[in-house]
Amino acid sequence: MSDADVAVIGAGVAGLASAYTLAKAGKSVVVVEKDDVVGGLSKTVVHNGFRFDLGGHRFFTKNEEIEELVRGLLKDELAPTPRSSKIFMRGKYFDYPLRPMNALFGLGVGESAKIILDYLKQKVTPQREIVSLEDWVVANFGRELFKIFFKEYSEKVWGIPCNEVSAEWVAQRIRGLSLSVALRDALVKLNHKEPPTLIKRFLYPKKGIGRLSERFVEEIQPNPVHLGWRVHRVEHGDGRVRRLVAERDGKEMVIEADNFISSAPLPLLVKMLSPEAPEEVIRAADSLEFRATVIVAVMVNRPRVTNLSWIYIPEKKIPFGRIHEPNNWSPEMSPPGKSSLVVEYFCFEGEKYWNMEDAELAQVTAQYLEELGFIRQDEVIDHCVVRVARAYPLLRIGYREHYNKIIEYLKGFENLQVVGRTGMFRYHNIDHAIETGVKAAKNLLGEKHDVFAVNVASKYLEEKN
Ligand SMILES: Cc1cc2nc3c(=O)[nH]c(=O)nc-3n(C[C@H](O)[C@H](O)[C@H](O)COP(=O)(O)OP(=O)(O)OC[C@H]3O[C@@H](n4cnc5c(N)ncnc54)[C@H](O)[C@@H]3O)c2cc1C
Repeated sequence: MSDADVAVIGAGVAGLASAYTLAKAGKSVVVVEKDDVVGGLSKTVVHNGFRFDLGGHRFFTKNEEIEELVRGLLKDELAPTPRSSKIFMRGKYFDYPLRPMNALFGLGVGESAKIILDYLKQKVTPQREIVSLEDWVVANFGRELFKIFFKEYSEKVWGIPCNEVSAEWVAQRIRGLSLSVALRDALVKLNHKEPPTLIKRFLYPKKGIGRLSERFVEEIQPNPVHLGWRVHRVEHGDGRVRRLVAERDGKEMVIEADNFISSAPLPLLVKMLSPEAPEEVIRAADSLEFRATVIVAVMVNRPRVTNLSWIYIPEKKIPFGRIHEPNNWSPEMSPPGKSSLVVEYFCFEGEKYWNMEDAELAQVTAQYLEELGFIRQDEVIDHCVVRVARAYPLLRIGYREHYNKIIEYLKGFENLQVVGRTGMFRYHNIDHAIETGVKAAKNLLGEKHDVFAVNVASKYLEEKN
């Protein structure tokens, strides 16, 4: 007899959304999570009275069902939070997303004129084929703007040249933006109307985004969520997954179920299959790359450092790419009178910042934060470092072929679905991840949804109509 109707690998928002939907429909479900806490990439770390997300997680969705679900779960734990993001470059702040008028004041008339002329030139002689991230940005913003604002930051994020990153990333991320849209918004603003661009406020759980996953878990009880158990084998036969084998401290746990949903990183799922996947599928799995991130939180002895949600740092001479101050998301993220700055070092696993000792990382971070004028090093009272190996699916040009091979192979299992960001190797945000989880669950409840259609066709620009 099975242990449950459905077994779910991973207690991030995608896996938990599946478990929640199934539990509410009366199905028995078991969730297995390798971490000791729930939330995955959307967890909130708690450290000596301070709380921080892995990079500051803002929930936003255009999907009413998902919005309702999240609001229903968090209710009055959600508080409206002002959104204010800046790019810090050449010692100045620029608006994020970029606004031409602001860039003009920041860069000076000469450079701005060059940007606009270059953009117009681009419009007259457009690039024929858009293959890479660079092609897309140049086509939509011109080469000058690409060089000034996009190139360094993108290369920091991806660790490879922009002409090697697939333009597909843009489709999953920032489609709909262009210099003409930005100019239109600037003109609307000059006309004293509200520009229809990015939202100014968002709802944020007072104790961090991790509360969302904790609420999911509360709601799916008494269905079990096994924490600290890493699935290392997915046994199958006759086109069906039969059982999961998880391990913890040398002990094994076997879970049998009728259906399985995995939000574990897609290439790792392939490697866990037993009997082994065909060699070409394993090779395809080995070809999918992730960009890692090292999150360094430095706690400071003052109530507030900035009034910003996120600060983007494109210049390569500064080794980290983004900062956020959790206190500006919710005052409950730090003890009274204290604050913290959380910085993100984008890297590959095994590189310099990945390998650096925590204490040294904290010291280097504090040094740079002082150099940038944010804090004094003697204000730092504590630190906490979190390494995330698979933070960003790296959509290198050519990845598709490997990806399709894996997906085609996995479709051969009639009772296995993949969901979520790392699970599907897609650039999903929280809302997309939840939507895939909900849809996969509904497929087991008699509905018919294409989980792979999430975050593909719909326009995703956080644009208000
Ligand atoms: C730095 C950063 C900032 C972000 N900011 C935002 C933001 O502001 N807004 C937004 O909407 N989205 C943001 N995102 C994206 C968001 O974090 C993800 O979309 C979402 O958390 C993905 O959830 P998931 O459940 O699909 O995947 P995950 O969170 O990766 O969950 C997968 C889970 O599976 C577990 N697992 C893996 N392998 C195994 C195994 N073998 N056995 C058992 N368990 C396993 C993992 O530990 C993990 O808990 C950000 C992401 C990053 C990296």
